[in-house]
Amino acid sequence: MSHLVPTSHLAAVDPILAGLIAQEEERQAQTAKLIPSENYASAAVLEASGSVLTNKYSEGYPHKRYYEGQQFVDPIEELAINRAKALFGADHANVQPYSGSPANLAMYCALIPRDSDNKRILGLGLPAGGHLTHGWKVSMTSRFFDFAHYGVDPQSHRFNFDAILAQAREFKPALIIAGATAYPRTIDFAKFAEIAEEVGALLVADMAHIAGLVAGGAHPSPVPYAAAVATTTHKTLRGPRGGMLLCKSQYAQAIDKAVFPGLQGGPHNHTTAGLAVALHEANTEDFRRYAHQVVANAQMLAEVLQSEGLQVITGGTDNHLVLFNTMPLGATGKQAAKAMDLAGLEANFNSIPFDTQPPMNPSGVRVGTPALTSRGCSLDDMRHIGNWIARSIRAREDGDALARIRSEVGDLMAIRPAPGVPLR
Ligand code: PLP
Repeated sequence: MSHLVPTSHLAAVDPILAGLIAQEEERQAQTAKLIPSENYASAAVLEASGSVLTNKYSEGYPHKRYYEGQQFVDPIEELAINRAKALFGADHANVQPYSGSPANLAMYCALIPRDSDNKRILGLGLPAGGHLTHGWKVSMTSRFFDFAHYGVDPQSHRFNFDAILAQAREFKPALIIAGATAYPRTIDFAKFAEIAEEVGALLVADMAHIAGLVAGGAHPSPVPYAAAVATTTHKTLRGPRGGMLLCKSQYAQAIDKAVFPGLQGGPHNHTTAGLAVALHEANTEDFRRYAHQVVANAQMLAEVLQSEGLQVITGGTDNHLVLFNTMPLGATGKQAAKAMDLAGLEANFNSIPFDTQPPMNPSGVRVGTPALTSRGCSLDDMRHIGNWIARSIRAREDGDALARIRSEVGDLMAIRPAPGVPLR
């Protein structure tokens, strides 16, 4: 059982739930988290997120609220806003979006006026690494706007800017989205801005995956180039689960109105507080070192996977994630991810560009290093992780072999404790 005070209250009130959380804590401690969109929030972030701030309603913005009693919530939200602006060099920040998906919808609603006759948005397609909320059919974002999608080059699997420009000229979008959920290379925001300018569109960015790398100087920032930038706060940025919008000052009012009262009610003040802590932690030399180590670790992982006979998409990575084709080892992505999970290596199956397999059983697996790097994993550790990944895919039918790998993974995790997870 955890030594954290809140968990001990929980154990007294609701032992069933406390038991489940303790088991999840144990699972997180023992397994290697390779899902690139996950991380470990620090104990300080968890403490702020679990505070009494959850008890307070604060519809509105600092000093313009619909409820009394904001003496401390106002400065907390201002702290988060000012830290976000300072860290990313943004004119304006809105820290209220509940998560990345509502942040994206708010961004589109803010920048495309209700009565505009151009509701066209050009974003990266899901099969090429875009996110659902970039207008994929099953996402509500596609209901309100008219989306077209660009892809990646069939040979290099990287963006082909000539092709994107040609498509933008033809489609004449009001907005172009630069951002991805499974693109392993640097996103050239300056180039996207040139294309947007050329076709009279606004550039918006979704830096959900790479926000921590941007904060730490390990990836170029979209902030100078984009009218607005949406992000999640819980991935590489290592904050609480949430969303955030940054924008140029001329869009500040529209962005704020789109979030509240446009799409949301009261802000989650406990999350705002956790975010303020995460932004404080991200503005340190330690975090800048962390961001660069995330990339170095991912590059090492890509190298090992490639040498083990897996096909690394684009031949490597510039960021925190590696997308690889598992078919050369005879396994679909789903079979590979299942075997890895049994070996204590937690990842997700993923389509690869131009995948001929169906989305629920695609050819690839996506792995990332943000969480392992938060545990202090080194380049040498990544060599082991890469070997274990390949071994587990090869041994996918052999329960004993997978259990042996799981025990080796557990030994490494035991000497690399997860931040925020209390030690027993
Ligand atoms: N944008 C991108 C690029 C993402 O990868 C994600 C989540 O994975 C989101 C938006 C949505 O974030 P959330 O799951 O917090 O709604």
